Amino acid sequence: MTPVEAFERVVHCLDRAHATGFKVRAYLTARDTVLATPAEEIERRAKAGTLKELPGIGDATARLITETFTHEMPPYLAKLEAETQVEVTPEAQVYLDALRGDCHLHSRWSDGGATIEAMVRTAIGLGHEYLVLTDHSPRLTVAHGLNRERLEAQLDDIEVLRAQVAPFRILTGMEVDILEDGTLDLDDDLLERLDVVVASVHSKLKMERRQMTERMVRAVASPHVDILGHCTGRLIDKRPPSQFDPDYVFAACAAFGTAVEINSRVERLDPPPELLAIAIEHGCWFTIDSDAHATGQLEWLPHGCRVAADGAVPIERIVNTKTADELLAWVA
Ligand SMILES: [Zn+2]
Ligand SMILES: [Zn+2]
Repeated sequence: MTPVEAFERVVHCLDRAHATGFKVRAYLTARDTVLATPAEEIERRAKAGTLKELPGIGDATARLITETFTHEMPPYLAKLEAETQVEVTPEAQVYLDALRGDCHLHSRWSDGGATIEAMVRTAIGLGHEYLVLTDHSPRLTVAHGLNRERLEAQLDDIEVLRAQVAPFRILTGMEVDILEDGTLDLDDDLLERLDVVVASVHSKLKMERRQMTERMVRAVASPHVDILGHCTGRLIDKRPPSQFDPDYVFAACAAFGTAVEINSRVERLDPPPELLAIAIEHGCWFTIDSDAHATGQLEWLPHGCRVAADGAVPIERIVNTKTADELLAWVA
């Protein structure tokens, strides 16, 4: 294992264990130093014990680099691998086993921390058959949303990458903002080109209930929208759920064939159980998605699976238990 690989795996493990940004950043900084330094110099310094003279290398990161030269598997990394396993309850495992892909995740193109390729390689390692790349739409400037030009460039990049990772499938997509009037933050011709479209509310979350209901119904009724992302927008203990009439919204999801996402991020776990029950009653389709912004977060699906198991979501209604081809047929 090279020092860079070790750092990236450490960051992956820290991410999946919800570590703070500070620790993650220290390892990424050290990785960048290693990348900018000739490999012979790193090895020489590791043997001489002078790694810490390099910028951004401290005690822990110097030790990890040294361990990559002395051990097949650096002991620090082995310990971290064991300590950061994501727990899966037996009930959630049933759902996890049925999932074939992940329909909502981000890359460095918007506000994610990893390249598309890194996300793909991780997804392959997790046994997924496909992923849908859903970076943010233009209006979400804080998250570097993609305008037409950048989205088209991303689609070109994906085309190249697809050939390299086959038979794994990369499906194109976007997490499109639902604007205040329920229209979508992307032109129709681009929405048309994407394989899968997730639509989410990211602004004016405190909108009056009736208006929010109309806004969401209009969005999920769009023929371009396939999945309603994190429907209440809640952040547990930080931001209350948006208010809307779930009967109207979920009836519309069922009628227009838009899946209701079960978002696996622990701070979201959206929809909450009482809303999930209403969506099941309406006969909705569902997805269980990671909404990952880093490779380690692709391992968060068990959290969403636990929500699905607790709510007894019928497995056959979960769209990402389908194969990529079945999923594409379903969205069409
Ligand atoms: Zn979102
Ligand atoms: Zn997202």
